[in-house]
Order: sequence, then C-alpha cells, then structure tokens
Amino acid sequence: MTGFRCEYAWLGGPSVATDVLIELDGERIATVLPDAGTAAPDRVRSATRLSGLSLPGLANVHSHAFHRALRGRVHSDRGNFWTWREQMYGIAARLDPERYLRLARAVYTEMVLAGITCVGEFHYVHHRPDGTPYDDPNAMGLALLRAARDAGLRITLLDACYLTGNVGAPLTGIQRAFGDGDAKQWTARVDRLSADPAVGGGPGTSWARLGAAVHSVRAVPPHAAGQVAEWASALDVPLHVHVSEQVAENEACKAEYGRTPVRLLSECDVLGPSTTAVHATHVSTDDIDSLGATGTAVCFCPTTERDLADGIGPSRALVDAGCPLTVGSDSQAVIDILEEARLVELDQRLATGVRGSFTGSDLLEAATGAGHRALGWHDAGTLSVGARADLVTVRLDSVRTAGSEPSPDAAVFAAAAADVHHVVCNGQVVVRDGRHAGSDSGVDVGAELAAAIAQVVA
Ligand SMILES: [Zn+2]
Repeated sequence: MTGFRCEYAWLGGPSVATDVLIELDGERIATVLPDAGTAAPDRVRSATRLSGLSLPGLANVHSHAFHRALRGRVHSDRGNFWTWREQMYGIAARLDPERYLRLARAVYTEMVLAGITCVGEFHYVHHRPDGTPYDDPNAMGLALLRAARDAGLRITLLDACYLTGNVGAPLTGIQRAFGDGDAKQWTARVDRLSADPAVGGGPGTSWARLGAAVHSVRAVPPHAAGQVAEWASALDVPLHVHVSEQVAENEACKAEYGRTPVRLLSECDVLGPSTTAVHATHVSTDDIDSLGATGTAVCFCPTTERDLADGIGPSRALVDAGCPLTVGSDSQAVIDILEEARLVELDQRLATGVRGSFTGSDLLEAATGAGHRALGWHDAGTLSVGARADLVTVRLDSVRTAGSEPSPDAAVFAAAAADVHHVVCNGQVVVRDGRHAGSDSGVDVGAELAAAIAQVVA
C-alpha cells in the first residue's frame, strides 16, 4: 500500500487537518488519518512526506485544448469575442489528428503540472477543414483521449454537436469541420465512439469517459438540442452547453425564437442535474430560477471571460438558486484552477462592491468535488476513504504562500499553479518535486508546447 504523510490536508469544511496519513490501495484512497504521528507512528514511518497543503484533485470542467495556441498572441488587439473567434478558427483550420495529439498532450501536461487531475474537454473540431470525415470519423476525439492518458490525467470527452454557423445560418469556412449535418448523424458518430475501448464501451474506464455537448443555441437548433439531450440521458452521461456568454447570442436567440437561451434549452429538456451551463454570464432572473430549479450546474471561466471582455456572471445568485458551481480554463489564456476559483469571488467583489460572497472552502469545493461531479466522476474530488486516489499538494513556503495560515484561503487566495509540487492521479504519481513524470524520460514540457504550437500557427 502506498502511503503519504501530509503536513496539512483539506478534508472539506473551513479548516485543514494536520499530519494526515493518506494510504492508497491501487486507484482508491484506503485511509485518511489525521494526527497520524500520534495515532499510528509505525505506519507513518514508510509513508512519503508531503510538505505544504494537500488537496483533492482539481477538476478543469471546461477546456478547448487547441485554444492554448492563441496564448500570448491575440490579447492586445481591439475587437471582441467575435474577432477573437476568427483568430481561433485559424488555428482550428491547421489541426489534424496527429497535430492535435501532440498539442493536446502538451497542454494536458501543463494542466497536470497545475494540479488538474480531470479535464472536461468540450470537443467540436471533428472533421477535416472542408468538412469531410477522417477515415475514422472519431479520429480527433480519440487523439484527445490518448493525449490525456499520455499526460496522466482523467478526461471526460464532451463531444459537441455543432450544426449551424449562427442562429439559422449554414456552416461556412472552417465551421464545416465542426458539423455532422444533423443530430441523427452526430448520434451515429458518438454511438460508435461510445463503443470504443478508449472510453470503456459506455460507462468509461478509470481514465476516460464520454459525455455530450450542445455547442450553444447559436450552433444547435432546438429540435437537435433535444435529441442530444435524449442521447445523453439514455446513456446517463454528462451534458454541457455554452449559455449566454455574449449579449449578441441572447439577442439572436430572442429574435429567432422569442425567448432567452436558457428558456429555449429548458423547453428542449436540456437542463437538469447532469447538465452544466458554461459561462451563464448574461442571464435573467427567470433564467437563474430555471437553472437553479433544475439543479443545472454552472461553470465559470473567469480568466477567459475577462480576456474576451465577456462580462461577470451572477455566481452568487446562481448558487443561491440551487446551481452547483464549477470552474474551467476554457480558452487556456491561463491554466490555473486556483486562480479561476479565486476570481469567482474577486469578480463578485468588483461587480457588487461587497466582499465575501464565497469562502475559500466554497471555492475549493467548486474546484474539486463539484467539478468532478459535473464531469460524471461522482467518486472523485474528495480526500475520503473509497474515493479515487487523487492528491494535489501545494507549497506553503514559496514566495507567494510563505507566511499564510494553513487553510483553504491559503490555497485559493495566496497560491498559484506554480506552487503545486506533487500530484497523484488515479494512484499514480504524475508530478514529483514540481516536475512532470514525463520529464524523467527527457521530455521538456515547455519545448514540447512550443513545438506543438508552432505546427498550428500560421
Ligand atoms: Zn468554451
């Protein structure tokens, strides 16, 4: 049995436990014992010491891996979400399964180094740039699954249905790579994927599972959205959807259908406890009530939302209405789940003039347990007996964290991804002393990212 003796560990709630022995039995946590030096002196002797604060694995609920190629290239221009989207399309047009495998593997490795043990990959670049399928129509999705396995984190591949270029408009240009024609053909393709051993033929393996996504009301007509929801419900898998990230999206939806995106999705049976609404930035009071009443989770992506000038969503009101809160790195402008969690609170302060909408432990729960549940991993995201053996340890002696009180606040309000120095995922040590396990075989993660990005930028 592998054992870790954690200087401090967050076991839930507002405080942290001291001197915690965490023993693993394969892919599961077998023991969680605070004050272990006193309670079990013999057993701690062989355990690996982890200094700092140990947390459950972090869940990155919303990711588009290839957007990482835009970082440091597209931030200074004026313009808005729509002009940024054109730049993003330029990268999508240069992807193929081989390039995407290399890029995603490097991006997921960056995520592992940041303490992310599970990623929700919202995947929509399915086909060749002219829209014709690859020999295996799921070649791109399979490349993402392999990339995650190689990097050493768990993945929920959220295969997105994407049928129209805007509300009622045909796909044009690179958007043709995203489309399957109609919901029936989308279903046929994902049925084939769900039978693939890479996702365990349905329920999933220890490392990968399948979910569904309705890209947005812009890209999926109501009838098709209902069919995707039906498919997800029949297989009992998570369903994700971009919702009201942009005011223009709301206006187009209202002009065509006479209702908000949330109301439309509600009428198509897309909302519910297995569904996550990504962004939920520009939502009405009625929308908030519908999302809360159906138990729909929300995923905030504040580093992306600020980069794209999207706005600040009503996180507190959504949580009060009954929505579980989760966070994601989305466009990969930043890959730091602790920062995403911190910004949910800090953005509320800017928007409302009031501090303290969320505590450090509320935010850690969003980044761990709630995030894993939104990705269909109900047995992950906690340090408890029987849970999946994920463990993320944050230094409390770095230049950022030194002097902080050991507490959830230290992790959320003081630490950054760079303070993660030890990561266990599914019982395997994937980061040791701040170095990814792949580094031991000579992989330079930074150089690999640069090379993978060079392949896809013009
Ligand atoms: Zn997104």
